[in-house]
Amino acid sequence: MKLRGQDLPRFRRKLQEWFSGQRRDLPWRRTKDPYRIWISEIMLQQTRVAAVIPYYESFLERFPDVRALASAPQEEVLRLWSGLGYYTRARNLQRAAREIVERHGGEFPRNLEDALALPGIGRYSAAAILSIAYEEPLAVLDGNVARVLARIEAIRGDPRESARWKRLQQAADALLDGRAPGAWNQTVMELGATVCTPRAPVCLLCPAAKWCRARQLGLTDVIPEKRCKRKPIQLLLAAAVFTDRNGRTLLVPPRDATAGEEVSPLFSRMWQFPAVHVRRDAKPELRRYLAEEFGTAALKTAELEALEPVRHGVTFRAITISAFRVRVPRLPRSAGSRSIELGNLTKLPVSNLTRKIARAATAPGRPG
Ligand code: SF4
Repeated sequence: MKLRGQDLPRFRRKLQEWFSGQRRDLPWRRTKDPYRIWISEIMLQQTRVAAVIPYYESFLERFPDVRALASAPQEEVLRLWSGLGYYTRARNLQRAAREIVERHGGEFPRNLEDALALPGIGRYSAAAILSIAYEEPLAVLDGNVARVLARIEAIRGDPRESARWKRLQQAADALLDGRAPGAWNQTVMELGATVCTPRAPVCLLCPAAKWCRARQLGLTDVIPEKRCKRKPIQLLLAAAVFTDRNGRTLLVPPRDATAGEEVSPLFSRMWQFPAVHVRRDAKPELRRYLAEEFGTAALKTAELEALEPVRHGVTFRAITISAFRVRVPRLPRSAGSRSIELGNLTKLPVSNLTRKIARAATAPGRPG
């Protein structure tokens, strides 16, 4: 049933009442400050709410406004983002902060075109920020909203397919409550996140049930159509965790400078342990790489002590890392490398993959 006439205001009212009573109390819902809403929207991309909250709080404590973010060293921005993943978001966030200071007087732009011109801001983020912060009548469409709308309107097929996505955007635009667009968008997003979930929608508790065609037709299991998952590419890496007598280790720079073009992106272009792609046999290949990289004859014979293998997924890549501890009296050096206490790695921007390797090296029962 298409929502028309009197049904549309009833539908909106019912959902809004539900949202007033059931909304989760989230830190970014206690503000209308566009800067804070923007930070939350970027952090929430592909990341769970519970994982975002502590990052959101510490990020804002250190960068309470756009000027503080714009003027900070990039390394510090990345350090505060470390562990949250998808680090391009943090780099774009700071580039956008600088543009906002330079071109928009330090205020997040109010119109869609200017917002879309900022690095890291797509149609979804722009609509979310502008509607929530400034009450601009822009309907959001993300995975959660698309699922809710596809079910309500019984739109079959892959929602990400471009013509279908357009149709869903039209449905979102038609349902938007222009008098309170920010609250409306959050209502539909909340419904998708908490009730109309991908696997087991809780239709009995759903305020939209009366209007939901998928429910009426018994199609909630097949709408939206599941996407075919890309088969993961298996990658093997070997990494060296050097430790000297003082418990310090060595990290190499966050660029493509050391381990070859193809390795650094797997560490999100952050500080990392020396690592190399493995073709056949981790130990000799790592040993060869270390000797070439650090030019120290002693490394040719240094003992490589195997740690628990580390597994990590990055988008469609399934990475297995054979990590080895290399005990040395003095840490070797290569261009731009840094030494740091193994237990203090998070003082530098490091990826989750690097954290996992460090955990393997400091796991209980493992001598330091
Ligand atoms: S009735 Fe069920 S399928 Fe329909 S919107 Fe509500 S939770 Fe989703």
